[in-house]
Amino acid sequence: MSRALVDIRILQREYLLAISRAMTAELDLHDLLRLILKLAVELVSGQAGMIALAEPGSDHLRVAAVYGIPPHLVDHFAPLVRGVPYREGREGETFPELVEQLRRVAKEAELGLNQVIRLPLSSGGVVIGLIYVFQSGNYYFVEDAPNLLRSFAEQAAIAVGNARLYQRVNQEKQRLDAILEQSADGVMILDPQLNITVFNRALSHMTGWPAAEAIGRSHDDVIQWQALKTDADLNAALAQHWPQPNAAHLYVEGEARRRRDAACPTERDTLSLGITYAPLLDANGQMTDIIANVRDLTRYREEEALQKTFISVISHELKTPVSIIKGYAGTLRRPEGRWSSDVLDESLGVIEEEADNLNGLIDNLLEASRLQAGTFTLEISDEVSLPRLAAAVARKFTTQTKEHSIAVDFPPDFPTIIGDERRLTQVLNNLVSNAIKYSPDGGRITIVGEVHPQHVTVSVCDEGIGIAARDQHRIFQKFSRVDNALSRKTEGTGLGLYLSRAIVEAHGGRIWFRGNSETEAGAPGTTFTFSLPRD
Ligand code: ADP
Repeated sequence: MSRALVDIRILQREYLLAISRAMTAELDLHDLLRLILKLAVELVSGQAGMIALAEPGSDHLRVAAVYGIPPHLVDHFAPLVRGVPYREGREGETFPELVEQLRRVAKEAELGLNQVIRLPLSSGGVVIGLIYVFQSGNYYFVEDAPNLLRSFAEQAAIAVGNARLYQRVNQEKQRLDAILEQSADGVMILDPQLNITVFNRALSHMTGWPAAEAIGRSHDDVIQWQALKTDADLNAALAQHWPQPNAAHLYVEGEARRRRDAACPTERDTLSLGITYAPLLDANGQMTDIIANVRDLTRYREEEALQKTFISVISHELKTPVSIIKGYAGTLRRPEGRWSSDVLDESLGVIEEEADNLNGLIDNLLEASRLQAGTFTLEISDEVSLPRLAAAVARKFTTQTKEHSIAVDFPPDFPTIIGDERRLTQVLNNLVSNAIKYSPDGGRITIVGEVHPQHVTVSVCDEGIGIAARDQHRIFQKFSRVDNALSRKTEGTGLGLYLSRAIVEAHGGRIWFRGNSETEAGAPGTTFTFSLPRD
């Protein structure tokens, strides 16, 4: 071999080495393909080039990159990919059919290309695509171009394989990130120093910590236990050498502090949380991360507490009218009894009233369980007259109390509305019976109607004990009764306002209340108001 030839070979080898380095450094598949093409065309002094890649999982080839071909002419070159199939062992030869096809395409595209070298890109014995280099009629490829291109193509195929792998890993990571982010449970990942590295949206929502602020902080900054239900928290477990090899996950449950959220000042201060910590260990058994799955158990714990209240309240509420009815019925039945008609009338009146109470209570319970089961539906009629319903409710309660006066005040043009008459009566019943119950010294109760352009309102105003500011957020909750001397004496299940709100909201309305002193200094009592849409 002549000295000059040896020099050229060495130069070519060095060039190949340099481009193989450049290729392996490029992990973006799109950029890599462009780089490969540019280098391949330069390597053999071609004019233009094209790479077709097999679509993953199929033999179908698709043009993946071009070089030296104007973008609007790329479609012309696509038939080349399908025209002449790959021939094992014979690539590198000139295929007359391929040259023929190129000439046709080049003519159409008005590019003077008429020579082509095509080589497989194969990685690990699998052909992943084909690389084409084109040349125009007035020039020649460098000597030995197919061989040069062959060693280049092997390197290029490895780089493409790596870039694809990188792309897949990246996609997989994005998929996992999206799953974590979208998970309905709170998820966070801690490093071995217990600093937070991942904090998903559900957890932000739960704890009041924006992810951007939580990430980088220590676990204990964000999860601040107030009281624990389980024996140990994460720190105590780590002090006792958790995790042991093959150890189970660590479960910690308790009450934790919630971060005050300026955007949502009514949110509660504490949360019941259940956290499962799962350690990730490397091959040496060293912990690399802790994955914490966080559940908000607040509602569950509240339900539990409510169920307890429910059982005690209900058993008391059901027993009271039943024992009164039984007492009166027993007395009336006494064989030796000779009852005057007045006594009979009064006793039967009490029995009837208590039976009504019992009925009302059972109705409320049924409604509450329907609401819970999601089978609560309105029976709508279109001409509901709220003044008529209010008058009937006022009449009914007037007969039951001597200490209170009940007035009804509606403007004459008060429109009829579309709604569920029976349920709206139930709302009025609840509000008026509360107004009576919570004004033990008697007083005036007024049911006032007002007409607005889009809606009507009905208010029930009493002169009773009022509601302390600290209890205001609770009274519409199920089974919630304000604890005061009066409520301990009065009957009640804490269902009335809960149901009233559900009924009003099902009609598209709202219900609220205010202390009368807010509008009139020193005035006693409370006004409950609900609105209903006019259409
Ligand atoms: P219940 O009357 O059966 O206890 P409600 O759901 O109707 O249940 O009312 C919840 C709580 O709201 C009551 O326990 C009472 O403390 C308070 N409340 C309701 N209405 C009034 C009112 N008009 N005045 C004062 N407190 C009231």
